[in-house]
Amino acid sequence: MRITARSKNRVEFSRNHLSFYMKYALVVFNTLRKPLFHKFLDWVLRRERIKEHKVKDVQIKMFPLRKENGNGLAGKCSSEGKILLYPRRLEFCREKMQELGMENLDFYIKSRARATLIHELLHLKYASDEEKVRELTKKYFNIFTKHQRSQNSDAQNITKILFT
Ligand SMILES: [Zn+2]
Repeated sequence: MRITARSKNRVEFSRNHLSFYMKYALVVFNTLRKPLFHKFLDWVLRRERIKEHKVKDVQIKMFPLRKENGNGLAGKCSSEGKILLYPRRLEFCREKMQELGMENLDFYIKSRARATLIHELLHLKYASDEEKVRELTKKYFNIFTKHQRSQNSDAQNITKILFT
């Protein structure tokens, strides 16, 4: 797993944006690297009979990517097993911080990163069956969250934002 930035994008971003996206990428990196989450992913892969070697590369992209319809993209998975994870835009996070507070925003960013990685791993098996992948992502994400015994009392509300 590594953090990557497309350099051609970098010029578009101010210093403020750069430091925000740098911090964001580090939070995601540290969250996804946690041994407990890894153990959980291994369990998911075994349960779904997805061979671990099918995952060739996991890249945390530093900058967000917008789809043609203007919506942000959370992640991408190629048939070769290359998984890309994208951040939320700074403007979105600012808005959410005002709405939910810093602690909840932090929780949201971590949850989104975990859910996205689970989602893209499932695409390795279910390919373009988006409905199935979404259903299972929700299921596995909830299992992980329950076991985590999160102290966050707003966890349920934030999970709602994640899956709508
Ligand atoms: Zn998908």
